[in-house]
Amino acid sequence: ERKYEHGLSKSRSSFGQSLNRLFANFRSVDEDFFDDLEDTLIQADVGVETATSISDQLRDAVRLNNIKNRNEVQNFIVQKLVEIYDVPDQQSMKLSENPDGPTVILMIGVNGAGKTTTIGKLANQYRQEGKKVLVAAADTFRAGAIEQLAEWARRDHVDIVQKPEGSDPASVVFDAVKRAKDENYDILLVDTAGRLQNKVNLMKELEKMNKIIQREIPGAPQEVLLVIDATVGQNALTQAKLFRDVADITGIVLTKLDGTAKGGIVLAIKQELGIPVKYVGLGEGVNDLQTFNPEEFVYGLFK
Ligand code: GDP
Repeated sequence: ERKYEHGLSKSRSSFGQSLNRLFANFRSVDEDFFDDLEDTLIQADVGVETATSISDQLRDAVRLNNIKNRNEVQNFIVQKLVEIYDVPDQQSMKLSENPDGPTVILMIGVNGAGKTTTIGKLANQYRQEGKKVLVAAADTFRAGAIEQLAEWARRDHVDIVQKPEGSDPASVVFDAVKRAKDENYDILLVDTAGRLQNKVNLMKELEKMNKIIQREIPGAPQEVLLVIDATVGQNALTQAKLFRDVADITGIVLTKLDGTAKGGIVLAIKQELGIPVKYVGLGEGVNDLQTFNPEEFVYGLFK
């Protein structure tokens, strides 16, 4: 909890400060206020569409004379930001598990987004829960990725399936699902290569992996998590849309939120892609991965 507070402090302080500044100067909800509100939201990377929509809804509410004072306006904005999420309960944000065999989680995203690191953190969390965890180094493309994952596996005390750099990623996946099944692993976390330059190849590679996983473990993969780097701002959305075209993404892991003042991107992703952010990365350490709680995040902005 404290880590969450701390890690998000940069996003919060900047986004929150500008929102608080907006209200510090509050006199009435006039056209100037709507302009300032839109600017503030856009600068925090909430996205133009969302910013305009919230401002328009507020304008309607004001016209209908439902709200006018500062507190009412602030509550309205908080409510709208939370509504973007529309999460029925925190349980729905949890990662799915396979009741009949190994749970398979595929990690996708461009190089440098934080896939390997996130697998290291997740493997540790599952292991702490007493699960038997296997990781698969199917990013055979990026130099150093295999060794980096092997290092995480050593530190986490979990097992790894790996082959030399340049090996066919599908053969790594094949060996990993076999082993996960035969040796009764609870969790299999699969690292993949993020070569977006060639969309057709990426799609084929992911399809091939998926086919192998589905054939060996019916119902798997339970989760396909897209890892995106929050510091790339609006480009994160462009990237996410490309990946959405080639994979059935079940959730997003937004990394490096500790390093950005543009925390609004969390909300933009849900609004524009319809995919929930299930985890946020708040640092490079093993404990710096937290489930994302939208209400806490938005209310925190106004502290
Ligand atoms: P991959 O290519 O997608 O596997 O990316 P990596 O897992 O190698 O991560 C790239 C870099 O980002 C590494 O230096 C990580 O330590 C760093 N990183 C990953 N997640 C986070 C995070 O949440 N916060 C910070 N500050 N750094 C992170």
